Amino acid sequence: MKVLVAGGAGYIGSHVVLDLVKEGHEPVILDNLSKGHQEAVLHGTFVQGDIGRVDLVKEVLTKEKIEAIIHLAADSLVGESVANPAKYFRNNIGNGQSLLDAAVACGVKYFVFSSTAAVYGEPEKVPIPEEHPKNPTNPYGFSKLTFEGMLRFYEEAYGLRFISLRYFNAAGADPEGKIGEDHRPETHLIPIVLQTALGQRDHLQLFGTDYPTPDGTCVRDYIHVVDLSQAHLLALNALAAGKASSIYNLGNGQGYSNQEVIETARRVTGEEIKVTAGPRRPGDPAVLVASAEKIRAELGWHPRYPALEEIIETAWWWHQHHPNGY
Ligand code: UDP
Repeated sequence: MKVLVAGGAGYIGSHVVLDLVKEGHEPVILDNLSKGHQEAVLHGTFVQGDIGRVDLVKEVLTKEKIEAIIHLAADSLVGESVANPAKYFRNNIGNGQSLLDAAVACGVKYFVFSSTAAVYGEPEKVPIPEEHPKNPTNPYGFSKLTFEGMLRFYEEAYGLRFISLRYFNAAGADPEGKIGEDHRPETHLIPIVLQTALGQRDHLQLFGTDYPTPDGTCVRDYIHVVDLSQAHLLALNALAAGKASSIYNLGNGQGYSNQEVIETARRVTGEEIKVTAGPRRPGDPAVLVASAEKIRAELGWHPRYPALEEIIETAWWWHQHHPNGY
C-alpha cells in the first residue's frame, strides 16, 4: 500500500517507515524537519513540508496515489504544552485538521493516528482501559483528545476510517542499530539517563520524589519503539481488511518508577549515573500504566521486547554508537 507517513523523520515515525518497507508497503515521508532528522529516513520518498500546507499535502497525496496516512507529525512534550498551549493547539489541532481535510479531499481511505496516554489525565484506576474517563491534565493530552473527537465526526460525515493508538512511554531503538532516539533538546527520561551514563551530563534531575507511589517517583509504562511501530502495521492491515474504526492503548501493562528506570540503566550500563531530587514537572500524572488487552485481542498485537532491561539495552547501544545523535 502507498502510505503517507506524516512525521516520518521523527523518532517513532522513522521506525514505522522501516517496518512499512519490511512488510512491502511504499512509504512517502512528509516531515517539516522541525524535530525530525532526514538521516533517520532510510527508505521511501521524502518530502520536506508541513502538514498545515493543504496545497502541498494535496499535491503529494494525489501525485503519489496515497491510500493511507499514518499521522505522527505533532508536538509531544507535556511540560512545553503547559508553558505554551497555543503552540499545541495550533499544530496538533489546527494543522492536524488541515491534514485531515487534505485526506478527505483526495479520497484517502485509512488514517492511523498517534495519540497518547495523556488523554486520560490522572487515572482513577490502573491499568487504564480505553473506556477510562478522559480528563487530560495538560494541553498536549487535550490536543490529542480533541483530534480523536474530530476523527470520529470526520468518519461519520466523510467516511474516513481510522485507528487511534494511545501510546504510553515509547523507548528503545531499532535492534539492528540503524536508527534511534535523537530529540534536541532531549527531555525524556531514558535518553537523559543514558546521556548521563555516557558522561554527557553530570547528573539528571528527578522531577518529583513525593508522588503517592511506592518510592515517591512517577510510574510509567515503557513500550519498545519497535513494538509500537508494529501496532501501526497491524492497524493499517486491519483497516484495509474492513475493520471498523477503533482506539487502542499501547503499553506493556507493567509500570516502572523513575527510580527503577535509573536502577535498571545502572545495571545495563555499569555506570554510576548521578541523580539529584528536584521539584515535580507541571502536568505529570503520578502513574500511567496501560491495559493493552484490547489491541492484543482484536489485532493480535504481541510485544517482542516487553522487558525494561531489553528496552534500555537497545537504547544504550544506539547512544553508545551515536553519542551525538544523527
Ligand atoms: N523525568 C525526570 N527527569 C528528567 C526527565 C523526565 O524525572 O530529566 C520524569 C518525568 O517527570 C516523568 C518520567 O520521567 O515522571 C517520564 O517522563 P518523559 O518525559 O520521559 O515521558 P512522559 O511521561 O512525559 O511522556
